[in-house]
Amino acid sequence: MKSYNKNNVFAKIINGEISCKKIYEDEDTLCFEDIKKDAPVHLLVIPKRYYSCYEDFVTNSDEAYIAKFFKTVAIIAKNAGIVDGYRLITNNGSNAGQTVFHFHIHILARMKTTEL
Ligand code: 5GP
Repeated sequence: MKSYNKNNVFAKIINGEISCKKIYEDEDTLCFEDIKKDAPVHLLVIPKRYYSCYEDFVTNSDEAYIAKFFKTVAIIAKNAGIVDGYRLITNNGSNAGQTVFHFHIHILARMKTTEL
């Protein structure tokens, strides 16, 4: 598991150094649009605390924070204008395709107004 490096882009989005198209924010969680959409709805949900990947998050965070995070993902998806169903993806480690080493969940879906 990679150790956390605060120079990653999502740490810079949390501290405001890099801008994002913000969808949701509370004291623990931030959600914004992926810069390179792979679906009509492509959101990234990140904890504001620093974990390099899913494994780091579930191993080293406390259960209340983990539970709140995943409940927040569901609330965000419910409010995102998704037509029916969505995919949640997290790439855990570079061999799985992880490119940003701040734990994040991708929400991917169609939008209500989108004809596929
Ligand atoms: P991963 O490949 O680590 O699972 O996902 C990282 C995601 O972050 C990619 O889908 C990529 O498009 C997105 N991304 C990378 N840099 C930025 C950025 O500066 N802003 C936003 N909004 N998304 C980014």
